[in-house]
Amino acid sequence: MVNRPQKKTEKSKLNNASENGQTETTQSGFGYQKTAPEMRTKLVREVFESVAPKYDVMNDVMSLGIHRLWKRDFVNGVAPKADEAILDLAGGTGDIAFLMQNARSRFTEPDNKITICDINPAMLNVGKQRAMDKGLHGKFDWVEGNAEELPFDDNSFDVVTIAFGLRNVTRLSKALSDILRVLKPGGRFYCLEFSHIPVPLLQKAYDRYSFGFLPWAGEKIAGDRAAYQYLAESIRAFPDQAALVKLMQNAGFNAVAYRNLSIGIAAIHHGFKG
Ligand code: SAM
Repeated sequence: MVNRPQKKTEKSKLNNASENGQTETTQSGFGYQKTAPEMRTKLVREVFESVAPKYDVMNDVMSLGIHRLWKRDFVNGVAPKADEAILDLAGGTGDIAFLMQNARSRFTEPDNKITICDINPAMLNVGKQRAMDKGLHGKFDWVEGNAEELPFDDNSFDVVTIAFGLRNVTRLSKALSDILRVLKPGGRFYCLEFSHIPVPLLQKAYDRYSFGFLPWAGEKIAGDRAAYQYLAESIRAFPDQAALVKLMQNAGFNAVAYRNLSIGIAAIHHGFKG
């Protein structure tokens, strides 16, 4: 359990600041708690360090297994090919990369590895063990790195994916432009993230679940109530579907589009590097 601010102050905001003609969009809060950007990144890192051992079981409990269907749907849309260079960003314990590896090796055995990058070594270590257990040892490059400053050369990847990761990143526009930078021309980017339900009554019911059940289950199962309070708050604070489209377009992605999953509880956004 890590020492995190507990008091609810004000709802997190997106801050827009201009620097060198570029607009930087930063998430100003840790959930609803207002923090400096560096502090937010540190607090998010501590959340995932704390929950890493119970992360996968918590996903199943919280979503009643639905996250697995969303992830399958997401990877079907990506349709990864055996010869593509692929980066799964904020890859955590490996779910998306494992599904992509299985999908792309169905007909031809790939001779390259999928890169899994995450800021948190504790999550990557759980992922490495899971890869071993699944007989997928040696199929991935595991890289510790921040989405805002990716440790990869320009034009390196055909595909970049990020699932339930972007919400945790502090400087959203910085991360999006760095993703664009590491994509090859014509490369594709896919983002799976919690989003917003466009029907207010349903959103209210979902909020009751998020702010009631999630922190309770976090305490009982992962021993960390605050981490799952953060999860609920960070979902509400994250840009809605249309706002994320705008952020991606502003970062330079072409043909940006999205589709809702489970009436907007989650959404898949995608775009191309022109
Ligand atoms: N993609 C995995 C999945 O779908 O199960 C893990 C998602 S988990 C909710 C979010 C992940 O984002 C964590 O592993 C966390 O360490 C990582 N993360 C948070 N901030 C990050 C950053 N700035 N750069 C890279 N990874 C980050």
